[in-house]
Amino acid sequence: MNQPQLAFNLFRAFFFLALAFLLFCLHARDPLFAKILDDGKGKGNGIRSQKKKTMKEEWGKDLSPEQRHVLHNKGTEPPFSGEYWDFKGKGAYLCAACRFPLFRSEAKYDSGTGWPSFWEPIHVDNIGFNEDRKLLPVRTEVCCRHCLAHLGHVFEDGPPPTGMRYCINSLALTFQPDEHPQNKRK
Ligand SMILES: [Zn+2]
Repeated sequence: MNQPQLAFNLFRAFFFLALAFLLFCLHARDPLFAKILDDGKGKGNGIRSQKKKTMKEEWGKDLSPEQRHVLHNKGTEPPFSGEYWDFKGKGAYLCAACRFPLFRSEAKYDSGTGWPSFWEPIHVDNIGFNEDRKLLPVRTEVCCRHCLAHLGHVFEDGPPPTGMRYCINSLALTFQPDEHPQNKRK
């Protein structure tokens, strides 16, 4: 094989490898996302097909700039910085933007990550799921099903009985205590 031929073959091999990698990245699906969202039609729970409300105008008039960053711009608060990562009150966690009920304290646990973690939502229909391709591996974003605000992500390394870890920003939540004085936020 002469030199130009070798160079051409090398270039061709590199080209196909790059193409294969690109196709892999485009088609790699987060298996968790596929599992949660598998409705038999490949359309998930419809969160993507919902008409996007004018969320930023409708919800969050009383939100802080930090909360807006998380809820509206899919930001992430620093670990161990939020109000709820170590909070143990009994009650419900609502969406900070629209007050939709999302999680219960009974499903909260200490994941050691520095973010409030839950092994299940109040109801799976209260949560919207989206593929998040900002980082590799692809992650599953969770958002409020009511106002579509970003909450955090869900992973498959949680405790029994579900094995799920809903990793949520404190800034995306508002705690609503059950009617008992000692459950109140300090
Ligand atoms: Zn909401």
